[in-house]
Amino acid sequence: MQIKAPKGTKDILPEQTPAWQLVETAFCKTCHNYNFQEIRTPTFEQTELFQRGVGDTTDIVQKEMYTFPDKAGRSMTLRPEGTAGVIRAYLENGLASAGTPLKLYYILNNFRYEKMGKGRYREFNQMGCELIGSSEPTADVELISLLYSFFQNLGLKNIKLKINSIGCPNCKPAYAKILKDYLRPHLNELCEDCQDRFDRNPFRILDCKIDCDSDIIKNAPLQKDYLCSDCQKHHNRVLEQLDEMDLEYEIDGHIVRGLDYYSRTVFEFVSENVGTQGTICGGGRYDGLIEELGGSSTPAVGFALGVERLLLEMESQNHELAGIAPTDLYILSFPDTINQAAKIAYQLRNQGISAEYDLMNRSFKAQMKYANRIKAKYLIVLGADELKTKKIKLKRMVDGFEEDINLDSLQAKLK
Ligand SMILES: [Zn+2]
Ligand SMILES: [Zn+2]
Repeated sequence: MQIKAPKGTKDILPEQTPAWQLVETAFCKTCHNYNFQEIRTPTFEQTELFQRGVGDTTDIVQKEMYTFPDKAGRSMTLRPEGTAGVIRAYLENGLASAGTPLKLYYILNNFRYEKMGKGRYREFNQMGCELIGSSEPTADVELISLLYSFFQNLGLKNIKLKINSIGCPNCKPAYAKILKDYLRPHLNELCEDCQDRFDRNPFRILDCKIDCDSDIIKNAPLQKDYLCSDCQKHHNRVLEQLDEMDLEYEIDGHIVRGLDYYSRTVFEFVSENVGTQGTICGGGRYDGLIEELGGSSTPAVGFALGVERLLLEMESQNHELAGIAPTDLYILSFPDTINQAAKIAYQLRNQGISAEYDLMNRSFKAQMKYANRIKAKYLIVLGADELKTKKIKLKRMVDGFEEDINLDSLQAKLK
């Protein structure tokens, strides 16, 4: 029997990779415009990192992690998200000494054992940023504006920013009590997951996908109405700067984000297109995380963006997600000219021109067919006569136009 890819994984095929490269390149470019530097971290980490850095009470750590003992019996976990590993690397490598703010971005794959659906996989890809060292509201807006720039670079429309404040350790506990007192009498009307969340992570009940339409959730007290004065000030300054920069937003008190370590600003970019409606990107401030992982108290803010969802969104907005990249030149050769064809291709390739020649010992006709299949822009026929006289015909494949040129000027012609 043929072996298949594990459930929840996928192959990204040659006709799909140009779209991936397009968004990754645009993301790197945008990050560099904002002076963020790339960081890469390991695919697996010690399990404890995620228990502490994502939070023992989260759905991710409780149910969704790929955890396994290594051969020495240590518990390892495939990363379920990017931030914990980045912060671990930040602490371990003493990046704090580089000064603040530290601006990092990443592009990586994550693993979560969860229910699959449209754009949801068990191995999935994220691009994200972490801005470490600033507690200023303007740092939150820095990331939000970066995302606006990125979507603009990609030509994406109808992506809406939803923003909220979920308070800080000073005002969160009092609100948690108010929320739980409100929810307690209604618990049996909520879904099973929410009943389970009530004790370990009651805030998550507010963004439950199953209960979101119920009046219990709609009328629940929200943290944004119970902020301490520092949190309120921070929130107001974020909104003022967004206003000043003409960056649109909607305040949504039900946005809480899934991870334990968030505080104050949380936000999501949500698609408004029918068919792909959903969160493309989520982020927020996590002032307590670095201390939680053993560093000194350091504020930080970040986001992660789902690449699969982003590509679905681009597709639904009818973006030309080009297929296989075309080749500049096909060199049609014969058994007695194959060595020279290879030499010419080698020289052109070294000059940045993509070129292809016959690797299959095919007939003239079969080579023509192949040149069309790889979408060669130009073609030359390299026979013994052409080699001797250096006179060749450069054929433009799109309309068949032919030009007589000297073999030595081929490179200049194609450049
Ligand atoms: Zn507060
Ligand atoms: Zn629920």
